[in-house]
Amino acid sequence: MHELSTKDVIYSFSRKNSPVLHVQSGDTVRIETFDCFTNQIQSADQEVSAIDWDRINPATGPVYVEGAVSGDLLKVTIDKLEIGDQGVMVTGPDLGVMGHRLETMESKIIPIENNKALFNEKLHLPLNPMIGVIGVAPEGEPVSCGTPGAHGGNMDTKFIAEGATLYFPVFAEGALFALGDFHAAMGDGEVSVSGIEVPGRATVTLEVIKGFHSKFPVLVNKEGAAILVSAMTLDEAVKTATEEMIDLLLPFTDLSVSGMTMLMSAAGEAQISQVVDPLVTARFFVPQYVLDALGIHLFTENG
Ligand code: CA
Ligand code: ZN
Repeated sequence: MHELSTKDVIYSFSRKNSPVLHVQSGDTVRIETFDCFTNQIQSADQEVSAIDWDRINPATGPVYVEGAVSGDLLKVTIDKLEIGDQGVMVTGPDLGVMGHRLETMESKIIPIENNKALFNEKLHLPLNPMIGVIGVAPEGEPVSCGTPGAHGGNMDTKFIAEGATLYFPVFAEGALFALGDFHAAMGDGEVSVSGIEVPGRATVTLEVIKGFHSKFPVLVNKEGAAILVSAMTLDEAVKTATEEMIDLLLPFTDLSVSGMTMLMSAAGEAQISQVVDPLVTARFFVPQYVLDALGIHLFTENG
């Protein structure tokens, strides 16, 4: 297995980044990550405003996948996700949904023990370890690792977890894959501007898929499939995610646009991933039983 450590981090996804590892399609890589603050906040008495804000949202990589060219899909299977034993949360003025009510920057250290995040003595929260930043080089100008887009990036989507498979549109030769920003737990919205931020290690298998296309990242897990769209507003993100999912499924069926729209209205879910990054991310989710009934296997030859 290939290994990458936190000595190789990027702060923006870019086709101009030099790859730090070359792999063949189908190879597995274990990737070590910092938390989104580059592990700068380690104790409760630390002044948050004193940290180096130029070292925020590092992603480890990029990985060059042989054979990937613009127009392909990069299939990323999250085989394993391991997280550290201490998380940190931050919020403050002008950050997140409640920033207008907050007067000082605050951080909170959250120990992780026995598969729980210890928010305080009474509140031991269940974990849902997930990857906040994951993606490939974008089509045009470099995109900060703090911003999401069609290339992935800071999508902060709780479904990006162990066992999930993502399909990213490839825009640059080699795809230039990277990831970082793990959360021990996060709810839809990420309303404070942070999840329970943790360092960790992800084991991912990278595969080039030819002959299929998607304009946006698509996630497949045991429960179903979701398309992830980031935009200036939730209205726009929800509308685009819904329409793209309908367009993704339509060619596999004999349903009309109106029929598919009714099906999505009855059984699909428009869901919020995050509202703070500062582009927002929505997803449209279709349950597996619907895909099964329609005989759809996304991005495979029999699909
Ligand atoms: Ca994030
Ligand atoms: Zn994060």
